Amino acid sequence: FIVEATSIVILGAGPAGGAVALGLKKLGYSNITIVGEARPFCAMEGVSERVVDGLRGAGFRYALEQLPPASARFVTWNGVTSQANTERLIDRAAFDAAILMDLGMQGIHVIQGRAGKLVSTPTGHNVTVDSSGQSIQVDADFLVEARGRAAPAAKLKRLRGAETVSILQYWDGEPGERQSAVQSFEEGWAWMAADEKGRRYLQLTFDVVSSKLPEKSRLAEFCIEKLKTLEQAQPYLANAASTGEMHARTSTPILCQETVGDNWIRVGDAAMAVDPLSGNGIFQALSSSLQAPAVINTLLREPEKALLAQRFHQLRVTELFFRFARIGRDFYAMEEQWADQPFWGARAQWPDNQPMHQQPDISKLLVKTLPVVNQGLIEAVDVVTSPDQPLGVWHLNGVPLAPIVLAYQSSPDDVAVIQEQCIAMQLNELQQRQVLQWLMAQGAS
Ligand code: FAD
Repeated sequence: FIVEATSIVILGAGPAGGAVALGLKKLGYSNITIVGEARPFCAMEGVSERVVDGLRGAGFRYALEQLPPASARFVTWNGVTSQANTERLIDRAAFDAAILMDLGMQGIHVIQGRAGKLVSTPTGHNVTVDSSGQSIQVDADFLVEARGRAAPAAKLKRLRGAETVSILQYWDGEPGERQSAVQSFEEGWAWMAADEKGRRYLQLTFDVVSSKLPEKSRLAEFCIEKLKTLEQAQPYLANAASTGEMHARTSTPILCQETVGDNWIRVGDAAMAVDPLSGNGIFQALSSSLQAPAVINTLLREPEKALLAQRFHQLRVTELFFRFARIGRDFYAMEEQWADQPFWGARAQWPDNQPMHQQPDISKLLVKTLPVVNQGLIEAVDVVTSPDQPLGVWHLNGVPLAPIVLAYQSSPDDVAVIQEQCIAMQLNELQQRQVLQWLMAQGAS
């Protein structure tokens, strides 16, 4: 296996595709081609501080510079208005352009164009790319599918939540403060954002089946009428006018049940897309992409560990999806005014009734051999699982937890046994304290 000779093609240059490209570069892969076509519409999206950390961890520089400071986020939910938190509002066109700049500056071969026909065999892939009217053939040993929700998936088994659509309108008004707001209503919820230049993004999310949306020619008027009834929308409509443009985006939560094979992998929204209510789409796209380079590296370098690497990726993607689906469910359930309406009833119960977090219970800790990322590869190691962490925790600030838990389980009432184990592992005082605190947080007395 020669790392430089292995060709990898990444389809889609959003945050997921970009993060995989940078991660592979760090692992020594130099024959990487990323094919990206700009989004056909403008969008403003809100991100949390975790996205800043994720972008930094992935190695983005220009994309980070595109992030404005956090701005106020107003919420009216279940009839209560608050200014609960803040978010950073990003202009996706500028953000995506900055991702391309990062890729180019770090020596990744970028083709700006549309990926069309894809022929895949067990030994490689051929993609036809339309780049400014020119047809380019790209051959590669490995394929990364990162085309977001647009990634073809007809042949894949997918789990879908309630069918959801978000309709985005653009308004122009007086320059003002950058801010955003969320408000629930009987048939869905609204998200509004404004930038300093007076550009406003007004997005209404509905259930596809029950919402009785009018035909396309009357949709804009229908949305405006709805927005006029919402308290939080008023500052965004004031002294402003619709530009007449409108864009509908599917926002159904979707989990692919097969996200990786021997010579391909799906990342970001192509692997699983969450409900935009959680405001965590970019974060989850980065999460699945930060782990993908180690999975790809293992598939290419140590094919005998393919099943382990594939299991790792699928389990993590699935776990992340359910975590965000449950966060969304609990937020929908907090809206009680229209609990009997189809929009709210369906979403307040999906995907299941498992609590977001399980109570710590030391008797439920188990030591299991499970896959983890270690130095750019997937390896099976002893980890500690709990009902809240079913995929296991390997170490705490570098200290492996499995031997500690085994020592605890051998004699739960005797702290001296743990101390002996800590000494045997040559842990310093700080590490010993951290280990004991961790055990107590798990429910040890
Ligand atoms: P994308 O960002 O979609 O990137 C995929 C890229 O592939 C795009 O550039 C696309 O143009 C390109 N592409 C597609 N087809 C082709 C092709 N054939 N050839 C070449 N290129 C192609 N997330 C947040 O964090 N905060 C929010 O506020 C938020 N709001 C949202 C609101 C709505 C209505 C929706 C639907 C989603 C929202 N999201 C939000 C989610 C967020 O947009 C995605 O989760 C995130 O962008 C996923 O990143 P990605 O790289 O996987 O896919």
